[in-house]
Amino acid sequence: MSTEAQIAFRDELIAHGLLHATDVDGLYAQSGVFEDIIMRFNALVTRSGTPDGPEVLRFPPGMARSTLERSGYLRSFPQLAGTIHAFAGGDREHAALIAELDRGGDWTGGQKMTGIAFAPASCYPSYPIIAKRGPLPADGALLDVQSWCFRHEPSLDPARLQLFRQREHVRIGTPQQVLEFRERWLKRGRAIMESMGVPLDIDVANDPFFGRAGRMLAANQREQALKFELLVPITSTEKPTACCSFNYHQDHLGHAFGLHTADGAVAHTACVGFGLERIALALLRHHGFDPKVWPEAVRRALWG
Ligand code: ATP
Ligand code: ZN
Repeated sequence: MSTEAQIAFRDELIAHGLLHATDVDGLYAQSGVFEDIIMRFNALVTRSGTPDGPEVLRFPPGMARSTLERSGYLRSFPQLAGTIHAFAGGDREHAALIAELDRGGDWTGGQKMTGIAFAPASCYPSYPIIAKRGPLPADGALLDVQSWCFRHEPSLDPARLQLFRQREHVRIGTPQQVLEFRERWLKRGRAIMESMGVPLDIDVANDPFFGRAGRMLAANQREQALKFELLVPITSTEKPTACCSFNYHQDHLGHAFGLHTADGAVAHTACVGFGLERIALALLRHHGFDPKVWPEAVRRALWG
């Protein structure tokens, strides 16, 4: 449920021309000013991560459906996943489609699943690419990735989008390598967001695993501190918004995608993700709707 504060913030963003609403909740066009904030923040993440020498991969919003199937996402989050369908009929089916469309009826009966699914998180499409290369080198793999992500969670909260961008860094290797990576990025993520002049907190978290069995998975994830979130109050101080997450998947994705370390063990993985739209929203909330008059230190950090 969206709160009054969330809806009021959404209205203000639209009134200032930063977001343009569509017929669908959680789906917006973004203005040049909004995009510029995201591009500048992204450049800041690049400056921070480049010294480690990550391999850069940029993904389209869709990934191979086989990647979604292998990842385990449909077991844990069937409610959020999105798949792409397309018309697959002949003339007769086309005529039926047009008739339904004209009637305002359901024209989607002739749609068939394609081989493409939306990426639910920007690291997913990278795992099969790395797995295909065979066992990892001794120092594992380090990636800098970005994708548009889809999650079916329509909402009037402008920070809960159905299509949004995640900038991630991903580490694949031994448990020691991936845990060291996550520690490094926990410090870095905090430093980056502190330089943005927003109040923040880092806390253990859990993913919204589906169903009754999911409750146990969520509790387990918290108990083992597998996920941390960097939280910034946007429309509530009691329930601040997750703007970055720091995830340790153990060997779950290593098993799913056949990732192996140099000595043949199943690889462990971790990722750190910046939710680019949420970060832009946090900045707009705390510094105002016009970036030209944001605090000097924040402007310097972003625009140099
Ligand atoms: P939440 O708990 O708020 O649903 P999450 O923990 O599911 O978020 P992750 O799966 O960790 O989020 O995704 C990484 C980052 O992507 C989040 O920290 C957030 O910044 C961003 N993100 C996740 N879901 C959304 C969304 N619906 N709209 C905008 N950004 C999102
Ligand atoms: Zn990830």
